Amino acid sequence: MSAILPGATIGVLGSGQLGRMFAIAARRMGYFVHVLSPDQDSPTGQVADVEITSGYDDLDAVRAFARDVDVVTFEFENVPAATADACAERVPVRPSGRVLHVAQDRLREKEFFRSIGVATTPFASASSAADLARAAQVVGLPAVLKTAGYGYDGKGQRRLTTREDLQAASVAADGSRFVLEGFVDFEREISVVASRGADGSFAHWGAIENAHERHVLDVSLAPARVDERIAKEAVEATRAVLEALDVVGVLCVEFFLTRDGRLLANEMAPRPHNSGHLTFDASMTSQFEQQARAACGLPLGATDLVRPAAMANLLGDLWERGEPDWEAALRLPDVKLHLYGKAEPRPGRKMGHLTAMAATAEEAAARVRAAREALRRREASGTR
Ligand code: AMP
Repeated sequence: MSAILPGATIGVLGSGQLGRMFAIAARRMGYFVHVLSPDQDSPTGQVADVEITSGYDDLDAVRAFARDVDVVTFEFENVPAATADACAERVPVRPSGRVLHVAQDRLREKEFFRSIGVATTPFASASSAADLARAAQVVGLPAVLKTAGYGYDGKGQRRLTTREDLQAASVAADGSRFVLEGFVDFEREISVVASRGADGSFAHWGAIENAHERHVLDVSLAPARVDERIAKEAVEATRAVLEALDVVGVLCVEFFLTRDGRLLANEMAPRPHNSGHLTFDASMTSQFEQQARAACGLPLGATDLVRPAAMANLLGDLWERGEPDWEAALRLPDVKLHLYGKAEPRPGRKMGHLTAMAATAEEAAARVRAAREALRRREASGTR
């Protein structure tokens, strides 16, 4: 198929910050962007050319949306398969509905990793109290109980340490499908964000190191502080995932690095990822531009990091005592501010991020943490 060139219109399903940064990158290249989601005045809608507010299951609205665009991509993987199919009747959908299907369910995802020889944490499925007891015998305790479907950012997860935890959780496990995973006492967490073009070409941003707080990403730094061998292995595992699923687009795999040097895949996201946000400032081609290039059948751009970088998420909690002190953070010249246009800073809600660059990833991480602390200072000293 020939390339979809600038001047064409890209449709995005989902309207959060990933779509917003995608729209910024795509519009910079001269594309028009239409977005469809159930929300109004959304982070993506604010920068898109057209914002359509509709449920994903309103297939008439979805078909009308697809009629006005040249290609469809998404920033939210939990759209129903029927939505992707309705778009695919009219235009290319990249990546395809098959990728969504695997990524929408933790069990399918883990079974898929195993099927292509990518190691995962020990896991077992559970949909009843009896299953859960059996699963605990397979994976042992401590373990982490996760909902199989629609889980992200640690939502629907709990750690089970004792037999009593297991019994209490059994009640909750009745009815829906869960995955019980062995708890990994990891040395580090890393991710690989990579892309695959319509012609099968492959590009990646190397291993990125991630620190989570309460199951939510807090700080990422690149390059990750791991052996070359580990970084290579993680990239090769990610390449295998993109190839096996015939992905055209961007995909991220998150890994645990165990204390004895083994890499275990935790989960994947078939779209740009929070750990790749630093590529927006620190890489030749960002994960968002790459998604546009891949979706439009264009050559992939170079993914070299221009400088080591780190990213810190800004959660709604930062607004607890009023507006953060933006000037204080921006006084640091190597720090970049990204805000997602969300009006309501609820605790735990991703409102924006900071990126810092420095001579080493470690320095960049120290710098971005300091910048985030500077935002808080005003809170600590009350109002000004
Ligand atoms: P997830 O929603 O699976 O990405 O989990 C979010 C975060 O929770 C991970 O990045 C880890 O920091 C932590 N976590 C999840 N599963 C496990 C596990 N099996 N062992 C240890 N930590 C975990």
